[in-house]
Amino acid sequence: LAKQTGRNRYQLFDTEIDRAARQHREQLARLQQALQQDEFCLFYQPKVDLRHGAVVGVEALLRWQHPERGLLPPGEFLGQVHGGELERPLGEWVMEAALNQLETWANQGMDLPISINISATHLLQPGFSEHLADSLARHPRVAPTRLELEVLETSALGEMQQAVAVLERCMALGVQFALDDFGTGYSSLTYLRKLPVATLKIDQSFVRDMLVDPDDLSIVKGVIELAHAFHREVIAEGVESLEHGARLHAMGCHQVQGYGIARPMPAEALPAWRAQWQAGQAWLHLDTD
Ligand code: C2E
Ligand code: MG
Ligand code: MG
Ligand code: MG
Repeated sequence: LAKQTGRNRYQLFDTEIDRAARQHREQLARLQQALQQDEFCLFYQPKVDLRHGAVVGVEALLRWQHPERGLLPPGEFLGQVHGGELERPLGEWVMEAALNQLETWANQGMDLPISINISATHLLQPGFSEHLADSLARHPRVAPTRLELEVLETSALGEMQQAVAVLERCMALGVQFALDDFGTGYSSLTYLRKLPVATLKIDQSFVRDMLVDPDDLSIVKGVIELAHAFHREVIAEGVESLEHGARLHAMGCHQVQGYGIARPMPAEALPAWRAQWQAGQAWLHLDTD
């Protein structure tokens, strides 16, 4: 009897794995279809420089306009893409969409750099820098310095020498790099010394609680000082209040991004928001010097 039950249990387990695998395949097929049917879009979140209060760029954030479920954030679907076959086509779609947007803005006389998120596994695939070069060449009106690539600190650093080589090839094209979610990875110091990244992006988990959690405040302070010591730009993400902004400014943080300034928005909403921001100049009140 025990044997029998064991076998049944095994079979049950087997079917569950089958079902999960089938579900995963179906979801991937649906994502593939979404890509073909142009259901993805980019939202843009402004970055503000604390030294003068101006909008200095935007981060492009992927959204899936799902016909039934509405607008989905990357947390709802990116996990299935990560490390799989779709990672590269989706990443290339994002790059193309951002370059198209930069071209539109260039034609309108709007000069705002765009940062896109690149997964480290995509970045390290053979041919990444060549594809980037091709994409830039297909957008001759776009200055390559207008494009920044945000790479996650943790995953980017596995294949160090390879990563440095790719970064250098991309930088030779004029493109800049930022290390995203900085502080959540490890070996930051050694890698920072070797990686030619222009900007450190302090992870929002530290920023969020820095006003109430002394440990988080120390980490934020530490990253800012590290950036100064290594002559890098430093930006804090997840800035939700004026008080966060004021403290970050006082600690020498260069730039901020977060709901306290603006939520990610469609490209069409940016010019009006920017005009309003510049008229209000809310963050200029932070000036301490
Ligand atoms: P990330 O690159 O660290 O982007 C910041 C995330 O924090 C975004 O979430 C943004 O909407 C959110 N955020 C911004 N300000 C605040 C704030 O003040 N408070 C809070 N609570 N959240 C804030 P989102 O758009 O859901 O993206 C999540 C992550 O998905 C991104 O984190 C990035 O790692 C990834 N991602 C987004 N777009 C792409 C993409 O095109 N390609 C790839 N590979 N990854 C992407
Ligand atoms: Mg990012
Ligand atoms: Mg981040
Ligand atoms: Mg993040």
